[in-house]
Amino acid sequence: ATLKKYLSSPTIVAKTVSPKIQLLEMNLQRVVQQKKFQEFEIYYQPIVDIASGQIIAAESLLRWQSPELGLVTPTEFIPIAESTGLIVPIDQWVLQNVCQQIKIWHDVGIAYLTMTVNLSVMEFYQPDLLNKINDFLKRNKLEPQYLEIELTESMIMQDINSAIATMNKLKSLGLKIAIDDFGTGYSSLIYLKNLPINTLKIDRYFIHNVAVDHQKSAITKALIEMAHNLNMRVVAEGVETEEELHFLREYQCDSMQGFLFSRPLPAAEFENFLWSNRHLYI
Ligand code: C2E
Ligand code: MG
Ligand code: MG
Ligand code: MG
Repeated sequence: ATLKKYLSSPTIVAKTVSPKIQLLEMNLQRVVQQKKFQEFEIYYQPIVDIASGQIIAAESLLRWQSPELGLVTPTEFIPIAESTGLIVPIDQWVLQNVCQQIKIWHDVGIAYLTMTVNLSVMEFYQPDLLNKINDFLKRNKLEPQYLEIELTESMIMQDINSAIATMNKLKSLGLKIAIDDFGTGYSSLIYLKNLPINTLKIDRYFIHNVAVDHQKSAITKALIEMAHNLNMRVVAEGVETEEELHFLREYQCDSMQGFLFSRPLPAAEFENFLWSNRHLYI
């Protein structure tokens, strides 16, 4: 009788999805299906060379201004976009728009920046990723070295052989590759030496209070040294204080990104920021 009861009872309990998430998902679906991409906007956060104080790069970060929901942050909508597969057209839209924006900036004389784009795991493993990127570059008559792809450790470890193959193809196309949020995933250091990575971005968890937290300073110093020995450049994420910056300068971290210098800015504001900060920043 007990067994029968078990068998007849529903084995799958209805997924408890909060109304907020359902609402986000519904709206996100509508944006993508009806191609209302104008609700999205790409913000740019400067990345600064610590030794020279020059802006050398910028990270593109997606924002969603929904007429129904207001401003939705990526930490809210990216996970939903990933679980629904909507992230694929969204990431492609971002790639395409960042390429267009780089071209626009080149045409007005801003031609020295590397622009980074975050890819999500699903987009990274799309078989036509390389063709798409190639197409966006060609359409904008853009040289590939201006584009850097940000990947996370867990994305790479999900299918290491396929990831290495794709990374090598991206590299041979001429793009740069950064490993994002480093230290928070669980990558094997054995693989790290074989990966074609240009830039290692230390996660902001380690940077927060790095100058006073002895464990964080120990780890950060070791990461900088390791990355340099592997011929990678190091970016510190989430730099918020002068103390953190001083620490990073002392231990020869290459560049930094964070609210201390600038928040992510809409394209027009980012451009003004560049024009008004021509010289030394730090
Ligand atoms: P991420 O790639 O690690 O991006 C850095 C995040 O740190 C950004 O959050 C940025 O605004 C924030 N940040 C920068 N400086 C500071 C600081 O000094 N202090 C603090 N507390 N935070 C700082 P954001 O823009 O909310 O993006 C969150 C995440 O969403 C990103 O993390 C990335 O994983 C994802 N994301 C953003 N745009 C895209 C996109 O176009 N495609 C995909 N697939 N993911 C994206
Ligand atoms: Mg990133
Ligand atoms: Mg990051
Ligand atoms: Mg992140």
